[in-house]
Amino acid sequence: MNRHAPPLHPSDLGLILSYKCQCECAHCLYNCGPTWRDWMSPEEVQEALEATLHWEQPYQVHLTGGEPFLKFSLLLHAVEIATELGIPVYAETNAGWCVGETLVEERFTALQEVGPSALLISCSPFHAETIPPARTLMAIRKSLEVFGPQRTIVYMSGWLEQIQAFGIDAPTPLEAYSQVFGREEAGRMFWQGYSLISGGRSGYRLGHLAPKRSPEAFQGQTCHRELLYAHHSHFDLYGNFIPSFCGGLTVGNWHQLPQLIADFQSNIFPELIEILIKAGPYRLYEVAKESYNYQAPDGGFVGKCHLCVDVRRHLVGSADFPELRPVEFYDNF
Ligand code: SF4
Ligand code: SF4
Repeated sequence: MNRHAPPLHPSDLGLILSYKCQCECAHCLYNCGPTWRDWMSPEEVQEALEATLHWEQPYQVHLTGGEPFLKFSLLLHAVEIATELGIPVYAETNAGWCVGETLVEERFTALQEVGPSALLISCSPFHAETIPPARTLMAIRKSLEVFGPQRTIVYMSGWLEQIQAFGIDAPTPLEAYSQVFGREEAGRMFWQGYSLISGGRSGYRLGHLAPKRSPEAFQGQTCHRELLYAHHSHFDLYGNFIPSFCGGLTVGNWHQLPQLIADFQSNIFPELIEILIKAGPYRLYEVAKESYNYQAPDGGFVGKCHLCVDVRRHLVGSADFPELRPVEFYDNF
């Protein structure tokens, strides 16, 4: 982190083309899944990519979701526009659609032809809960052929061996890890082995496999770095500028990026964002408890983001906070 750098200046900006995904992973920070419907329009993709030109290089853009290959023509268009604008770009995929060698090869080749893109392929027990590892392996093999080893990123490659150990032709439920390794070890494998962040679904779906703490344990943990100086952020299809990995939270509208950055440079922040920057989720918890009747659930929280998401989940039903977007995030745990 460089505290002297301007705020809201990520080095890796993701475009969430849609929250739609065939999967509904337990660790998803953006609560993506099959019920989401909307997509960014081609014009908005162009606008979002042009908006990033406000930042000085170097930065790169990744095209993501949800699963961006579910609307392949839009993904192709986005790579094309980024390339025309001279923005380094790569695409992400969960490989769930990789059901035939010809289809995979055609799509990767088409991508490769429109721009100097790289490909990130997701690989984890959470993805393997929906996606048979054979599809992940096919995506990796074809990407190595088309993009080459320098431009094929497997995240996280350390899980490749383990997900295959349960068989490659069918998905593996996460409970299988607890059955084979015991609950404590499975929790350690997931939380430490994947460096899970406790936001999004993970605190709820995987929190039973990790130690929990009371809200007070997070007192004094601010989100100054994550909300002002995150190296990784997203623009979504609804205009939300989502900092760091904070699904369901927006610092403002990326359509007004220069004004937003100017406001942040002048220390003008939306109400909840200001609380989180200056005091962190514990203060948000206090405000929610004092003014909005929030009651923390018994058992505590896995991490500060789990606390934050739980409080926000309550606040979104209590008042209209423009920072809590997209509101559908809060319907998709
Ligand atoms: S983590 Fe990725 S693959 Fe899983 S639901 Fe979220 S967007 Fe989809
Ligand atoms: S506590 Fe909330 S604002 Fe802070 S990093 Fe986690 S999700 Fe983001």
